[in-house]
Amino acid sequence: MSDRTVLITNDVETTSIVNHRLDDGTARYVVEQGLPRLLDLYASHGVRATFFFTGRIARLYPDAVRRVHSLGHEVGSHGLTHEVDKAFDTMPRAMQLDHLVQSKHLLEDIVGSDVVAFRAPALRVDKGFAAVLKEAGFLIDSSVASQRLDMFFSFGSLGKLNWLRSPRHAYLTSSADIYRRGTDGVFEVPVSAFAFPYIGTFMRIAPLLNRTTRRLLHLEAMATGRQFVFLTHPNEFIDEPRDGNAIDRRAKSWLAYLMGDLLRHALKVRNLGAQALPLLEHELAFFDGYGYKYHTCSDLYNQYLNTHAQ
Ligand SMILES: [Zn+2]
Repeated sequence: MSDRTVLITNDVETTSIVNHRLDDGTARYVVEQGLPRLLDLYASHGVRATFFFTGRIARLYPDAVRRVHSLGHEVGSHGLTHEVDKAFDTMPRAMQLDHLVQSKHLLEDIVGSDVVAFRAPALRVDKGFAAVLKEAGFLIDSSVASQRLDMFFSFGSLGKLNWLRSPRHAYLTSSADIYRRGTDGVFEVPVSAFAFPYIGTFMRIAPLLNRTTRRLLHLEAMATGRQFVFLTHPNEFIDEPRDGNAIDRRAKSWLAYLMGDLLRHALKVRNLGAQALPLLEHELAFFDGYGYKYHTCSDLYNQYLNTHAQ
């Protein structure tokens, strides 16, 4: 692909960043504040984006899913639930399949058309996941962050070591190994990283480092035609009040609590809400300035099929 391509991807969920928990009350901020802010911004930059909805938020606010779809964006699945004890990499196969099929049908019933793209909550999948995705009827996955090196700050970090070996360009996976090229798996759209991830969280907590990461990715895109895949969340663009409770402890050991919960939380609330908007606008202005074209995951897959026909 010679075109400069960027995918803006959005995970739509009930996670409260300030209060560090899943919260249906947060969903209202997401739908009434975060999502409209992003949709307006995208409209003003001609962005067609992909939105991965959890089943939880789609059930609470089906009209929000329909609105995203009616504006020409792609609707994808972000699983049924974002609960940390129901991560896909810890589920038995039958449960993975059940969650995938349920979330797909739920979204398809809402939008009235096929839903073929998937992203796992917290990017937690296992090696054989492509086969399950395929069985559930998904064609596209975006749960791999090739050569992203901050995995030790997140959950499921051992499985994420596979990111070291996964391809950088979008690729057709093997059904036996989602981290490897093959012929019988799904189309993988890796989230951009150049050691540091190219995501909304990082854009907010380390704007200068994010700029460097983006410039390196831009050089790579020009040299190799690799696509940009930015990952953000509408819940990063909400001004939700902090309720003053202590940070939930999810980790088992005190070290994991310190690194995984407390430290992460202190960083993750930087530039939240309205302050995040000009930062994202800056990213889009960069892409506009360099003549990048905005595509959805399905657009990219269709281009891939066209160029690999016969
Ligand atoms: Zn998520």
